[in-house]
Amino acid sequence: MIIGIDLGTTNSLVAYMDGDHCRVIPGPDGRATVPSIVGFLDNGMLVGDPAREHLVRSPSRTVYSVKRFMGKALADVADELKYFPYTLQEKGGVIRIQIGDTLYSPPQVSATILKELKRRAEAHLGEDITKAVITVPAYFNDSQRQATKDAGRIAGLDVLRILNEPTAASLAYGLQQRTRGFIAVYDLGGGTFDISILKLKDGIFEVLATNGNTHLGGDDFDRRMVEVVVQDMNTRHGVRVEESQELMQTIRLEAEKTKRRLSDERQVHMAISLSDGKGIYERTWSRDEFEALIVDLVEQTMASCRLAMKDAEVEPGQIDEVVLVGGSTRIPFIHDRVRALFGKTPHCDLNPDEVVALGAAVQAGILAGDNKDMLLLDVTPLSLGIETMGGVMNAIIRRNTTIPTSAREMFTTSVEGQTSVDIHILQGERDLVKDNRSLARFQLKVPPLPAGGPRIEVTFLIDANGMLNVTAADIRTGQSQSVVVKPSYGLTDDEVENMIRESFQFAQQDVQARQVIEARVEAESIVTSTELALQRGMDLIGREEVQTIQQAVAELRAAKNQNDHRVIRSKIADVEHVTHHLAEVLMDATLKEALENKKLSEVRD
Ligand code: AMP
Repeated sequence: MIIGIDLGTTNSLVAYMDGDHCRVIPGPDGRATVPSIVGFLDNGMLVGDPAREHLVRSPSRTVYSVKRFMGKALADVADELKYFPYTLQEKGGVIRIQIGDTLYSPPQVSATILKELKRRAEAHLGEDITKAVITVPAYFNDSQRQATKDAGRIAGLDVLRILNEPTAASLAYGLQQRTRGFIAVYDLGGGTFDISILKLKDGIFEVLATNGNTHLGGDDFDRRMVEVVVQDMNTRHGVRVEESQELMQTIRLEAEKTKRRLSDERQVHMAISLSDGKGIYERTWSRDEFEALIVDLVEQTMASCRLAMKDAEVEPGQIDEVVLVGGSTRIPFIHDRVRALFGKTPHCDLNPDEVVALGAAVQAGILAGDNKDMLLLDVTPLSLGIETMGGVMNAIIRRNTTIPTSAREMFTTSVEGQTSVDIHILQGERDLVKDNRSLARFQLKVPPLPAGGPRIEVTFLIDANGMLNVTAADIRTGQSQSVVVKPSYGLTDDEVENMIRESFQFAQQDVQARQVIEARVEAESIVTSTELALQRGMDLIGREEVQTIQQAVAELRAAKNQNDHRVIRSKIADVEHVTHHLAEVLMDATLKEALENKKLSEVRD
């Protein structure tokens, strides 16, 4: 059994495939959502609802919204700090949350939530669970995805796939069964808003664009209502709400409750009792009034949708399916605005709080082999490429490219009369071949031609299962050779992480080494071609000029082995400078020859 997990900013859920149906797993209280909150006690931790209560009592020892810190450095979240009462530190380039004297990494805190979900699933299904699919926002970068995987590992879960939340929502509605189309996923939760534009082709989802606001959601609607009530209480009852934390908290809860009821009723009565014999505060809210209060916030989300469509280069009319995600999309006004914008009735039959977890379960079912005819996107963890002259790696498919994918590049030979080319396939982020991983090598036969003559097309294709197929073809002869390898075979996550880390660590050193090698390769070819030109043009230029050129070539040959690419480059420039005249003379001679040949053939005709 593989479970599907929606690890959310405010709430998390776990779901699984029960035959053909995906189902969320409820907790002991019957509710499926676990608030993504972790409370730290002296002798343990609280997760979910108990931690929410702990938040009120001990805010500095309760962590919420940890998802915002996943895979980030302290500098990345400078703007967020004002929202959080707890202390953040940095260690090893990673944020740590300080609780008392102990530092916790965000994956550690997230792992506590995952463990709770794992425990629920095990209790419900009556078996040990060790494998999961976890969802992340489509805009999460590689380190945020990696941090999510790490959290899974800490919780004792093998994370088989990190799935994009909008893709999960589309899967929950079975949209993969369409052959092709554009999908808009509008996700408005309690604290965040995301819009994603997906392209579906042959059962494969591709994220074309995302937009949103990481601090916009249902909480802001509550806050607007709270402001009205606070103002009202002051003018009507002379109550200064700011002075009572408790009253403030009651208003917040009542506002949220009223907001929810306004999704079903056109009018809702609100009553809050005031302490100190000040009576009861009463107010009737109409749906129209509520809509007027939030219209500007809703319009902001519409503007984001338009920007995302612009980035994805699609018009609203081209969107085939619209999916609603997140509790706030239950608000009828939002539903209507989304329908008006895209000109389509959005999918909203499933519980918008559960739809991402349900989709994660669908993906888990596919991975478990329940549905074999479906392909789904993954990304390449490391770059793939081939070796070129001088031991340099030339990347053809970059790290983090969504698969399936293919890319092709043209290459040529560097040696006169070469009869075969060596295709050496590499994986890794470093510039030099020796620092990367060798995956396979093969040879392609080519007819002997001058250096630079053959045109060899190298194609890399990664299929949906991550298999890499490399083909090299000689464009002139049509001859080709290919090989199939599994790039991820035998690589642990740690090794992948290590390779990426090293590529950053050695970046500067690598660039220098590459520049030296490239300059040497160029120097080599200039020495050879200049000597050839000199043989042909010896009699057409003066003795002194011949000597100058020979001298410059000798200096370039000597400089070639230096480790400073600038020295080599300057000698290359010298040779180019002194051979300028020779090149012109040879060009004239060639032209003259060609003209004479033409005349001859005209006479013969
Ligand atoms: P989520 O993060 O998806 O759990 O979204 C929670 C947000 O949805 C909170 O701001 C809730 O107040 C809001 N929400 C839940 N149900 C409703 C509803 N029926 N009407 C309006 N907002 C709702």
